Amino acid sequence: MMRRAVFLDRDGTLNIDVGYPSSYDQMDVYPESFEAVKRLNQEDLLVVVVTNQSGVGRGLLTEDDLKDIHARLNASFVRSGARLDAIYYCPHYVLSEDRRYRKECDCRKPKPGLARQAAADLGIDLASSYMIGDKTEDILFGINIGAISVLVLTGSGRESLAKLREQNVAPAYVASGILDAADWILRRERHHIP
Ligand SMILES: [Mg+2]
Ligand SMILES: [Zn+2]
Repeated sequence: MMRRAVFLDRDGTLNIDVGYPSSYDQMDVYPESFEAVKRLNQEDLLVVVVTNQSGVGRGLLTEDDLKDIHARLNASFVRSGARLDAIYYCPHYVLSEDRRYRKECDCRKPKPGLARQAAADLGIDLASSYMIGDKTEDILFGINIGAISVLVLTGSGRESLAKLREQNVAPAYVASGILDAADWILRRERHHIP
């Protein structure tokens, strides 16, 4: 059977966006993120982080730094009784000096590559999944994969809302933050809205 997922952006959605953190010590997870993920875990929804990390391609951190950040991020959720089912990232940067990362890739949001990879690995039905994020590319990514998109007003959310309005793009819901977004999804699930 296909699973359904809530895709989550990282910076500005799960944690304060500080640019390009190169270690977990520079990361500040919003306290309500733990509760939001815990509530989604209790519903039958996978929680999958999808994050653009061009800082790797820009040489601001290594891919090992990023893996370490994500291992410690996972551990911090486990400690609070919550679970991130997977984390997918795009390390590419078109102008990278490192050939491994210099690429016009298909995994940089809003392109759908990260979701396609997650769907293949975990058996996710994208069209009945959700995307939560703070940037226009998160909302467009959600639309590109056929999911239901929720904009959070944390991070760049307010600027993004204005930009989306100019482009005539409407998220399904505008949430104050990740917990409000999770609760909206849970209400929607319980009312069996198709
Ligand atoms: Mg973000
Ligand atoms: Zn990529």
